[in-house]
Amino acid sequence: MDAIVVGGGIGGLAAAAFLQRQGVRTQVYEQAPALRPVGAGIVLAPNAVRLLRRLGLAEDLRRHALRVRTGWEFRRWEDGAVLLAQDMARCEQLYGEAAWLVHRADLLDTLLNAVDPKTVHLDHRCVGITQSPSRVEATFEGGARADADVLVAADGIHSGIRHQLVGRLPARDSGLCAWRALVPSERLPARYTAPTQTLWLGPGRHLVHYPVSAGRAVNVVAFTPAEAGATVESWSAQGEPGEFRAEFEGWDTQVGDLLAAVTEVGRWSVLDRPPIDRYGYERVALLGDAAHPMLPFFAQGAGQAVEDAAALATCLADAGGVPDALRAYSAVRVPRTARVQDASHGRATVNHLPDGPEQEARDGAFADQDPLRHSDWLYGYDAQAEARAAVRSGLVASATERATPLT
Ligand SMILES: Cc1cc2nc3c(=O)[nH]c(=O)nc-3n(C[C@H](O)[C@H](O)[C@H](O)COP(=O)(O)OP(=O)(O)OC[C@H]3O[C@@H](n4cnc5c(N)ncnc54)[C@H](O)[C@@H]3O)c2cc1C
Repeated sequence: MDAIVVGGGIGGLAAAAFLQRQGVRTQVYEQAPALRPVGAGIVLAPNAVRLLRRLGLAEDLRRHALRVRTGWEFRRWEDGAVLLAQDMARCEQLYGEAAWLVHRADLLDTLLNAVDPKTVHLDHRCVGITQSPSRVEATFEGGARADADVLVAADGIHSGIRHQLVGRLPARDSGLCAWRALVPSERLPARYTAPTQTLWLGPGRHLVHYPVSAGRAVNVVAFTPAEAGATVESWSAQGEPGEFRAEFEGWDTQVGDLLAAVTEVGRWSVLDRPPIDRYGYERVALLGDAAHPMLPFFAQGAGQAVEDAAALATCLADAGGVPDALRAYSAVRVPRTARVQDASHGRATVNHLPDGPEQEARDGAFADQDPLRHSDWLYGYDAQAEARAAVRSGLVASATERATPLT
């Protein structure tokens, strides 16, 4: 079997790694002329780490990433009171894996170690695909073409291939804008580099920080109300540090001290899209953000892309032919990722409750719940085992001819 992967991001490289590992001749086509160190912090939860370990990447991760000691630690905006904290030593006992904090560039490097470098083609922007019953062909800007048995569309949130297959997915404006900054650790007190995913909850907004790059920098991401009509959806748009600080005026001094050290900040609108009901189209599979763009509130964008990659390779290895494999892939991945998409969507409300009875009930529920068992469905999931079971049981998506939004 041979395969084309369009997109050399986290999902595309993970797909190439899993496919090449099982002997599928796989070529990756990435539009960027160079694999530059773009992005900032990524959380790899146990469900993703489990799969990266099977690619033989545990040692590379250990070199670049920080093993989380305290998982999600929710704090109250006003005084820093801890509302919930996940003990990750127990997480390892329960799920066999920890979570890791990594810079996106380091994760891409790590994944590249599992991909044959001769098979990664930069400066190749896919402009269209065509299929026959036996092959699928991609055309690139400038006229180059490539064909294969199967094509993996891992071309990200603005996927042109999804657009060609499914049409325009209506964006749901979350009413929020995202801020992102990386602060060198030497500008901060040591408490900010503890391997903890800290999340500050407050009225109308929340802020997350954790160390990356083996502790050399602290990743800060925050969500605040967007200006009406703002629609720039980009990882590289710029913001104003002063405006960022102003959004969190009056919050606990630990937030103020952190934001005082920010000298550059990215800012963009957060758009959401409803889940679709199908990821397999005869010989084309949608994967990662191309399949299920999600709000970032569960920190599962990269993790779900890695799960997709592992599941897709398993389905292609175990099912009788490509179309059957992609039907099984769709059947196993759509419900899983739609659940994460919907859970992330719900967080936009829950995380931002104004102080009052609802917020008190939420914080009371945090105090009552087991902070880890609540995540069983997320962290305990084995994407390869689920894919194998789907193929064995003949599970196929009840696919309509065209994908339709589920909600
Ligand atoms: C520049 C950038 C920075 C990011 N920074 C962060 C971050 O700091 N924190 C975070 O949590 N998430 C970040 N993300 C998002 C995160 O990487 C993804 O949500 C997640 O990993 C899913 O990965 P993906 O492979 O599906 O999509 P992506 O990681 O977005 O990868 C898609 C890839 O496809 C390529 N591509 C797009 N169109 C074409 C085409 N027509 N032909 C060929 N190639 C194409 C893109 O250049 C990109 O490399 C970033 C994404 C990007 C693109």
